[in-house]
Amino acid sequence: MMQKKYDTIIIGAGIIGNSIAYELALKGYKTLNIDKLGGSGFGSTSGSCAVIRLYYSSAEGVALAREGYYYWLNWPRYLNVSDPDGMAYYKNTGALVFKSRVNNNLVNVMSSLDKLGVGYLDLPPKEMERYLPDADLRSYYPQKLMDDPEFGKPTGSKINGGVFVPECGYVSDPKLSTHNVEMATRNVGGDFMFNTEVTDILKKEGRVCGVSLKDGTQIDAPVVINVAGPHSYLINGMAGITDQMNIKTRALRVEVAHVPSPEGVDWENSGIITSDSDLGVYTRPETGNHFLIGSEEPDCDPLDYVDPDNYNTDFTDQIRTQAMREAMRIPNLPIPNKPRGIVDLYDVSDDWYPIYDKSSLPGFYLAIGTSGNQYKNAPAVGSFMSELIQYCENGNNHDKNPMQYKMKYINHTLDIGFFSRNREINQDSSFSVIG
Ligand SMILES: Cc1cc2nc3c(=O)[nH]c(=O)nc-3n(C[C@H](O)[C@H](O)[C@H](O)COP(=O)(O)OP(=O)(O)OC[C@H]3O[C@@H](n4cnc5c(N)ncnc54)[C@H](O)[C@@H]3O)c2cc1C
Repeated sequence: MMQKKYDTIIIGAGIIGNSIAYELALKGYKTLNIDKLGGSGFGSTSGSCAVIRLYYSSAEGVALAREGYYYWLNWPRYLNVSDPDGMAYYKNTGALVFKSRVNNNLVNVMSSLDKLGVGYLDLPPKEMERYLPDADLRSYYPQKLMDDPEFGKPTGSKINGGVFVPECGYVSDPKLSTHNVEMATRNVGGDFMFNTEVTDILKKEGRVCGVSLKDGTQIDAPVVINVAGPHSYLINGMAGITDQMNIKTRALRVEVAHVPSPEGVDWENSGIITSDSDLGVYTRPETGNHFLIGSEEPDCDPLDYVDPDNYNTDFTDQIRTQAMREAMRIPNLPIPNKPRGIVDLYDVSDDWYPIYDKSSLPGFYLAIGTSGNQYKNAPAVGSFMSELIQYCENGNNHDKNPMQYKMKYINHTLDIGFFSRNREINQDSSFSVIG
């Protein structure tokens, strides 16, 4: 059988891999996404909390999240397809972000929101009560582990206040949203291979020329993109480029707790997103009238870097710790004896900011290190990665003259060099999922 000709191979069919494929296919590239799992979004995207929020530690992070937000508002028209499985949708809830020492009392975040003209309320503790059922607004900072005798004891009479950003929310179903992008990509000519593992990156005359698969098949393409999520470092190893990157990526094991709402509270419909760095947890309303509780990696918690093909998928004490932390804020939160939730992986970079870049191997590109916080940005990333590939393939030197990306929805130009593999570690980062 004659092999089809592809312009680009995208390793991975998660939300970022599919978004890049869609934007390339729209530009006329013949794309192929290859994924070792059985369908789109079956990897770490399936575990995503899919929170769409605007608070990042850097102005670039805030601007990119704001740009991404508009794609979700415009989802069916952006994709121009009707998925027989249904369309994912964005649900607006607003987000309450707690001021703390960890986030510099949100001074930088408010300044970034001001520059972009994004509205928010700067709230004293008393006014935060309106957003949280029977909240305990004492400070518990710094966080401790459960076996510490001081665990659960307040350290201050009041938190520092908070910022409520009304234009935040979450996407109903991250896996379905990724399938939506697959349908849109197929609609404009893109191909997909599932249950297919890439085992090597092929090179010829100093450039990438395709991939090898586990069954020995080789597929040629002049451009290959690593969008392998928590497996990204393994793909970089195959390409032989790891030594020529300043920023590295690793797979981090994380747990997210699902806890019922306090009795009489309709959190599913009236709940908001919270980011509580005084407690070191974030929450989101979940179907079934639940709170979904993730970690913001407080200093006391060990980080569990793992082999993405061989890690513990059982819950540990961590899931209960996160639930108990949230119960410090919402004392009526019923913590079940048998924990419920998920265990999944982040692809964490050294500074918890992603790498969206070319590499030292011509034709081989990177969209990796998404550090638990890039679901929201996926469509915007798809757009600028497709332009970055054109920019580099047309002979521009992105390392010397980084591409400047004119955003589509907001009047802002993003220096894509910010996401360089060779940047210095971004010391402004929260070094947590907040980015
Ligand atoms: C628990 C959790 C909560 C999160 N919450 C949020 C949130 O609230 N908001 C937010 O913005 N972001 C969040 N994120 C982050 C976000 O989900 C990720 O950044 C995003 O889903 C990454 O998408 P991806 O396409 O890069 O990776 P993935 O979805 O991991 O896709 C990579 C794919 O590559 C495939 N692959 C790997 N190796 C190979 C190989 N050798 N051959 C073939 N295929 C291969 C895998 O099978 C996988 O399907 C969260 C992540 C997790 C895990």
